[in-house]
Amino acid sequence: MRFGPLYAGAPPSPLSVHRHKYASEPACTTAYLDAAASGTFEKPAACADCGQEWVPLRPGHSPEARHVRTSVAIDSTKHTAKPGQLFSRRRLRSTLPIRDDSGRLAGHAVATFTGEVTGDEALVDSLATLQRVRIGGRKTSHGAVTIAFSDTGATQLWVRDDGVLVFALSSPAIFVDAEGRPTNAPTDGELSRVLGCDATVVKAWTRWDTVGGWHGASGLPKPTETVVTAGSTYAVRLADPPRANLAALVAQGVGLRRHEGFGHIGHYLMPTRSAAEVEAAAESLAASVTEDDLLPFVAFRYAQGVIPADLADAIRAAAADDSLVAEAAALARRYGGAFTGARDAKKAEQLLALPPAKVNAIVTRLEQ
Ligand SMILES: [Zn+2]
Repeated sequence: MRFGPLYAGAPPSPLSVHRHKYASEPACTTAYLDAAASGTFEKPAACADCGQEWVPLRPGHSPEARHVRTSVAIDSTKHTAKPGQLFSRRRLRSTLPIRDDSGRLAGHAVATFTGEVTGDEALVDSLATLQRVRIGGRKTSHGAVTIAFSDTGATQLWVRDDGVLVFALSSPAIFVDAEGRPTNAPTDGELSRVLGCDATVVKAWTRWDTVGGWHGASGLPKPTETVVTAGSTYAVRLADPPRANLAALVAQGVGLRRHEGFGHIGHYLMPTRSAAEVEAAAESLAASVTEDDLLPFVAFRYAQGVIPADLADAIRAAAADDSLVAEAAALARRYGGAFTGARDAKKAEQLLALPPAKVNAIVTRLEQ
């Protein structure tokens, strides 16, 4: 049985993911870009749609979740405060503030943490029956939780078409080289052994940190380790991808002190824009389409002043998939007929040469 780390919200995004230097523009096809998806593992210098530089995603954090409580020490004979003896504890709050779009406080929600438990199904099922669980330190007065389980399925790793495995850590990991010095990646030997085929780390996106801690049961400090942070991402060339035992890699994890929670490999999750952000971007983009943008394409309003639904669908599909451009142009040619068909087919191609988000916005306006 393996217990993954608990996170308030989503685990850290892969460190290979880059974001716009400033806010992305409504016309940008994508807000995030994963260097692990490119053939060279390099990011393009700038966004093709708005020209902004791509910069690494900084790990998010929620400082509001932490809270320091300072108390006085009590004299055990007099049962009064000992003069001059204050102590502080850093704790996590049981509720977190909810803020609206403008950052004003809109209420509080119970703090929820999510993590993965993997292992024998019967054992996981028996965990789900537990009640009155307390986690963390000072359990007589702290750490009461209610737990809920849902089946997320086995962790699927990403193997690119060219046989490169990409995975990201969901907890910090400790790696050492043959001499015991800290390194930022698992050795090829470790990966090859677990995967059962020759594996070579070809690219690593990592960040250093140190992790210590306190061992509650023995009342002793834990050794402080040099680690790479959760979100560290590795591209590994596999000699024989179909033979590689990916499930074994997920089950075992990587690096040292794995049974203490280091070296977990998680679901590979790209950050996403929230539905509200996507909608707001689409709306502001549709509003940004000017009459001049629209003018060349008003001829597509063949059906009582609006673009026919099948033509709108064909153009949207072609905006997402270049191989469908000819199909959309042929449909425009049919609607134009003998009189304007050839011109309208050209206009469809001209429209589809624009950035996809802009195409969608113009089609939306033609539907109105
Ligand atoms: Zn952009």
